[in-house]
Amino acid sequence: MCDFYDKMKDLMKILIIEDETKIAEFIGQVVREMGHEVVIASTGAEGRSQFSQSQVDLVILDVMLPDDDGKKICREFKTLKSQVSILMLTALSRVEDKVAGLDSGADDYLTKPFSADEMSARIRALFRRHTERPLSLKCGDLELDVIKRQAIRSGTAIRLTTKEYELLEYFLKNIGRPLTRSQIAEHVWDLHFDPESNVVDVYVNHLRKKVDAGATKKLIKTIVGQGYVLNEE
Ligand code: CA
Repeated sequence: MCDFYDKMKDLMKILIIEDETKIAEFIGQVVREMGHEVVIASTGAEGRSQFSQSQVDLVILDVMLPDDDGKKICREFKTLKSQVSILMLTALSRVEDKVAGLDSGADDYLTKPFSADEMSARIRALFRRHTERPLSLKCGDLELDVIKRQAIRSGTAIRLTTKEYELLEYFLKNIGRPLTRSQIAEHVWDLHFDPESNVVDVYVNHLRKKVDAGATKKLIKTIVGQGYVLNEE
């Protein structure tokens, strides 16, 4: 399980919304050095558009933006996607400012100026929480109970083999994110992907029959030339 989460880290995407270019680039560098993917937005409007376009795991959000209020953005993002982690940045260190930030739904708070070490420690802590949090994973009417290791669609239990379960869990942890055959092979089978092998396609097809059979909305889709994606669209 730990191994799985260690690997998950490679896939994390961080959105930085910060109008001070130097600070944004500084954080960007910290994030990249940690091996994560980074997107930088310098206004609230740009940040909103990036958030809706890409699957973001963590938002590093400046509280005072020229065109927007970071606390307002924070509330909106949490409403749109409750599992996203938000780290709020501010030049203010007064207690009431911290409380206001956390009240708007932020997971943590960092006061400027901060060091690269402080930033990376906060990011690591948020990712631990982010990945440890779910007891169940959901997409539309499909739910996976990760404690009982049981899948339910529209109230009906689906019987899965161990590998099918692991495959579905991996899909549900990456809703909307296209997964290549080699990513799937490495995460679910722990093996280096052999392009000659069709093991991934075989298992995805088995899983698809069980999960999407009889459902009007198909959740597992093929992306030609790329791999697979699970989403509700
Ligand atoms: Ca600012």
